[in-house]
Amino acid sequence: HRAERALADYHSQLPEKVDVLIVGSGPAGLTLAAQLAAFPAIKTLLVEKNDGPLQRGRADGIACRSMEMFNAFGFAERLMRESYWVNETTFWKPDQHKPGNIARTGRIQDVEDGLSEFPHVILNQARVHDYFLEVMRQSPSREMPAYSRELQSLLIDDASADYPVCAIFKRLDNEQGITETVHARYVVGCDGARSMVRQSIGLKLLGDSANQAWGVMDILTVTDFPDIRMKSLIQSASDGSVLVIPREGGYLVRLYVELGKLNEDERVSARNITVEQLIDTANRIFSPYTLEVKEVAWWSVYEIGQRLCDRFDNVPEPDKSRQHPRIFIAGDACHTHSPKAGQGMNVSMRDAFNLGWKLAAVLRDQCKPELLSTYTDERQKVAQTLIDFDREWSAIISSRAKAGNLRDEAESARFQEYFVQSGRYTAGTAIQYQASMIIAEPAHQHLAHGLAIGTRFHSAPVIRLADAKPVQLGHTVIADGRWRLFAFADERSPADRQSAIHALCNYLQNDEHSPVQKYTREGGDIDSLFDVRAIFQQPFRDIELECLPALLLPRKGRFELIDYEKAFCADSKDGPDIYDARGIDREQGCVVIVRPDQHIAHVLPLDGFSAITAFFDRFMREP
Ligand code: FAD
Repeated sequence: HRAERALADYHSQLPEKVDVLIVGSGPAGLTLAAQLAAFPAIKTLLVEKNDGPLQRGRADGIACRSMEMFNAFGFAERLMRESYWVNETTFWKPDQHKPGNIARTGRIQDVEDGLSEFPHVILNQARVHDYFLEVMRQSPSREMPAYSRELQSLLIDDASADYPVCAIFKRLDNEQGITETVHARYVVGCDGARSMVRQSIGLKLLGDSANQAWGVMDILTVTDFPDIRMKSLIQSASDGSVLVIPREGGYLVRLYVELGKLNEDERVSARNITVEQLIDTANRIFSPYTLEVKEVAWWSVYEIGQRLCDRFDNVPEPDKSRQHPRIFIAGDACHTHSPKAGQGMNVSMRDAFNLGWKLAAVLRDQCKPELLSTYTDERQKVAQTLIDFDREWSAIISSRAKAGNLRDEAESARFQEYFVQSGRYTAGTAIQYQASMIIAEPAHQHLAHGLAIGTRFHSAPVIRLADAKPVQLGHTVIADGRWRLFAFADERSPADRQSAIHALCNYLQNDEHSPVQKYTREGGDIDSLFDVRAIFQQPFRDIELECLPALLLPRKGRFELIDYEKAFCADSKDGPDIYDARGIDREQGCVVIVRPDQHIAHVLPLDGFSAITAFFDRFMREP
């Protein structure tokens, strides 16, 4: 904390002009700042009203898809080591013979096999913040948040100016009362459910008018409840429900206690709920088991409504063809819902991951500003699905609570079935963006039917050709703003210089119409915008490195060093290889184009040269 504060002195005065101003350093703001920090030419400013980083509490569930995203930022493996892994979920309801007591009615594997190479984990939101802050600090731009500033007002004061958005902040530290003005090209409101940025662009969270109240506590407890180290959903006959979330470190456990609906405009703080009341309620729900609470590490009561904005930027639908957005909102500023399915932090971070590369591409003049409208188009639909899911899930849980249903075995089975079905959704891997300027129509999907266009690139193991290292192919997609072209070879070996892979690499590297030739800046490495990687069907021992096309052994940087990490071979040692696992046509092969945020944009034949170029022509800008 002290180190952060010392670094924050750097922001003793906010800069007058920035490219991107981010308001709020929650999970959304930090993801965006970490992404933009990769581009030192972009001047980013992250402003936060609190006086330092979050220390405890709030969200803690990290879905598989978020782990994949963390891997792109380089900290998934470290985070995995310190977190609790949710491998199993158990269900409890009133004992049929003695309804005042709870009994276990079922248990299921939490994440289906093969859904992701990463587990579903639990870790304090504050630790997730720490990892992002570290990425920012160690980035080429050496970014850090400017704390103790509260946004007071925001407006577009001159739409035609280079820095059209004007933001005024009030200092909350020892410079109390002083205001600072920042002009920005773009502003992103990651300022939570009561977002000032949202208000300033006239948007509202629409939905339920009443809020659901929640009690949450992180406790050290001695208990005879046998599933205290399992994620458990407990439904009592008459005292409500509890969600048990075991925590990192082996001892701490989080209990979510559902406290009921509030009246319209009622705040949960007005009910003066104490932690003792939460502990008493939990003990009644756990009966016949007891919880002896030794210490409460953190607790909170808070209210949440199922609400959503109809757009996530400042441009109304009718003006979209004439105007591109300058102000965006992300995370809880655009959608709020219950914590039951553990989605809040996850969806918020992924909003920001969707927007970050787009802002960078426009600011670096690589893409047309029209690209920015795809943020609302893509993420508003995701949020709508989230709200619908949350409503359905909440209804199922509360319908179970009605006494009549509690002893009904069929109802219980239906409940677990729904939980299993929604597993892909809650893991974040089911999201599929629709066709747009950056998502192609699925004309050649049959060439890789397990890699659906619009979904995230589902990784699989391969062997790196040059050094025989087993790696995950998807882990080459790091958060550096580049596009990946994965060329899956047909049956021919690269020793055959007439093969489709040679022809494709030759086109990309040498043809003046290819996107690599057209869009790569003079003097930049050949893979600075398009990272081409090839995967071969032959075992790695059967392929000689020198037969690879030059594009797969590119010379890079000042010393023109050779990059040996562009070619991979299928690996069938521990099961089906990547061709079988992802349904790739072995006879024809294919090209899979992956966006900087790991989503699949296109699947094409290896010889679809003009279609590859036509796709990038839709949104890229020539230097
Ligand atoms: P936030 O995390 O809300 O971050 C917004 C940031 O913006 C904050 O740091 C805030 O200080 C800053 N900010 C706001 N206004 C201004 C301004 N005018 N000027 C400058 N800075 C500003 N989810 C769960 O799943 N489980 C939980 O137990 C849980 N507990 C929660 C408890 C609380 C008290 C809160 C507020 C949220 C909780 N959530 C919980 C929700 C979860 O934390 C959010 O879904 C997630 O943090 C959303 O991330 P975000 O970045 O969009 O917004």
